[in-house]
Amino acid sequence: MDSSPLRRAVFVDRDGTLNREIEGALASPEQLELVPHAAEALATLARAGFAIVVVTNQSAIAVGALDHERLARVHRALADELARQGATIDLFVACPHLDRDGLPPYRRACPCRKPKPGMLLDAAERLGLDLARSWLVGDALRDVAAGRAVGARTVLVATGKGEREHARALVEGGGAEFFVADLAQAARTIVAAEAGSVMASPTQGK
Ligand SMILES: [Mg+2]
Ligand SMILES: [Zn+2]
Repeated sequence: MDSSPLRRAVFVDRDGTLNREIEGALASPEQLELVPHAAEALATLARAGFAIVVVTNQSAIAVGALDHERLARVHRALADELARQGATIDLFVACPHLDRDGLPPYRRACPCRKPKPGMLLDAAERLGLDLARSWLVGDALRDVAAGRAVGARTVLVATGKGEREHARALVEGGGAEFFVADLAQAARTIVAAEAGSVMASPTQGK
């Protein structure tokens, strides 16, 4: 049925999409709070054959509010909690850079900070992904832009910055193919879209 040797993926933004966004840097596991039904959503997508790749801008590293070790600890805790609930993250990719306001060695106009697609391209190479058959789920228009840039289909969630970003897209464009309540609904939408049974929301293509 599926003859491509490449896997499909769902790229999932972290803060505001997978876990609640907090003020400042999320620098320790105690600050982690998953959005409702996050693990169930990821498990649904994995069962549908998608690799799950978390792609996160972490400019907190560039400004010295976070370091790689603490970020790794947060991601380990996140992966552990999801695993306890039956979900697996195939890969975490983080961008530690920031143009202008960053500190050396992270002050650079990198190819990975979303809306640029570098993290998605990196993951595609490492995991062998079929980007045109992949999806991106995020709460910001820059997530959507990164997904679009690699030809993936896109879903904007209303959690995190999502409501505001959706309102902005209605004026400025740059919206996702689908706008849904949260990650759980995003997973259902993706599975249904793959089965050919949902219509795109009216913001498509703007
Ligand atoms: Mg976000
Ligand atoms: Zn970067």
